[in-house]
Amino acid sequence: DHSDHCWLKAGVLYSLLWFCLFQPPPARYGGRHMVTLIPGDGIGPELLSHVRELFRFCCVPVDFEVVNVDSTMTSEDDINDAITAIRRNGVALKGNIETNHNLPPSFISRNNLLRTSLDLYANVMHCQSLPGVRTRHRNIDIIIIRENTEGEYSSLEHESVSGVVECLKIITRTNSLRIADYAFRLARERGRRRVTAVHKANIMKLGDGLFLQCCKEVAAGYQDIAFDAMIVDNTTMQLVSKPQQFDVMVMPNLYGNVVSNVCAGLVGGPGLVPGANYGTDYAVFECGTRNTGKSIADGNIANPTAMLLASCLLLDHLRLHAYATMIRRAVIATVTETRLHTADLGGQGSTSDVVHSIMKEIQSTGPLTQNI
Ligand code: ATP
Repeated sequence: DHSDHCWLKAGVLYSLLWFCLFQPPPARYGGRHMVTLIPGDGIGPELLSHVRELFRFCCVPVDFEVVNVDSTMTSEDDINDAITAIRRNGVALKGNIETNHNLPPSFISRNNLLRTSLDLYANVMHCQSLPGVRTRHRNIDIIIIRENTEGEYSSLEHESVSGVVECLKIITRTNSLRIADYAFRLARERGRRRVTAVHKANIMKLGDGLFLQCCKEVAAGYQDIAFDAMIVDNTTMQLVSKPQQFDVMVMPNLYGNVVSNVCAGLVGGPGLVPGANYGTDYAVFECGTRNTGKSIADGNIANPTAMLLASCLLLDHLRLHAYATMIRRAVIATVTETRLHTADLGGQGSTSDVVHSIMKEIQSTGPLTQNI
C-alpha cells in the first residue's frame, strides 16, 4: 500500500513537472492566443496568407503578430525583433528565410540564428505515406528527431592558413543526452517500438562516438523501446530501398537535414511534410524540409499542404486540438482527392483551388462537435 502511494505521488509529481516544463503559452485576451508569424521568402508569404484565411474561416482563436525579416539586410535587427516576439508569444509559424551563401562567414543564417537563440533543440518531422499520393514506396511511417542547435551547424569556421579551412562540428554530452532523451520520450508517448540512432562513428570516432554513446546510455533507461544504430551512408541506402523498416530515428544536425529531405521525397516531396522545432520554452513550426521555393513563388502553384499541416501542429501545441483535427482531416481528405493535386504531385490544381477545396470539406463536415 505504502509503495503504491509513493508511486502515485511520484506519478503526480512527474506529471506536474512535465506540465510546468512543457506548458504552452497561456491564452490571453478572452481565450485567444497570440502567435508570431514570420512570412520569410519565396513561397512563405503566400502559404502563410492561406493559413490565415483558413484560420479565419474556421474561427480559430489565434491572432498573428507579423514580423518581417528582410533577408538582404546584413544587420541583425530584423531577426532580433522576430526572436523577441517569439520570446513574448512563445510560439511562431514561419516561412523559410533565404540565406545568400556568397555573404561573408560572419553572416549567420537567420533561420539558424533563430533556432539557436531560442534553444529549439529538437526538430521533429513525421513522414507518412498519404493515400492518394503516388510514390515508389507505400506504408512509410517514420519520425525523424534531429538535433537542431549544434553539430555541423556551429557556424564556426576559419581559414587561419590560406587554403586550409577548419569547420568545427560540435558534439556535446549534454545536448546529445537531451536529444536522445527527447527521442525516447516521444517514442514512448506515441506508442512506438524502436529508436534508431544515425551516426558516422567509424570515421568521427570522438564526435559521433560521443553522440552514439549518449544514445546508448539513454536507451538503457527505456527498456520497453528497442534501440539500434546505423551508419549514415547505409541509412540513406536502406531508406531508399526499404523505408518501412524505420520507426523513430535520432541523429545529429546535418544527417538530420539529409535524412529528412530523403524521407520527404519518399512520401511525395517538400510540399507535403510539416516540421516542428521544440525547445523547453518555445516552439516554432514550418515546412519540414525548410524550402524557400523561390522559383515557384507568387505563381499560385505551390502545394499548401506542408504549411497547413504545420499550422495544425501549432494548434495542437496550443492545445486547440479540436481545431487542429478539423483542419488536418480536411487537408488529408483533399490530398487524397487526386483530381485536385498541385503540379508537384502531377496535378493541375492551383494553391487556391486546394485551399478552397479544404474549406468546402470543412463546411461539409459541419461545425465542431468536440469540446474546445
Ligand atoms: P532556393 O533558392 O531557396 O534554393 P528553390 O526553389 O530553387 O529555391 P528549394 O526552395 O530548395 O529550391 O526547393 C526545392 C524544390 O522543391 C524546388 O524545385 C521547389 O520548387 C520545390 N518545392 C518546395 N516547396 C514546395 C511546395 N510547397 N510545393 C511545390 N514545390 C515545392
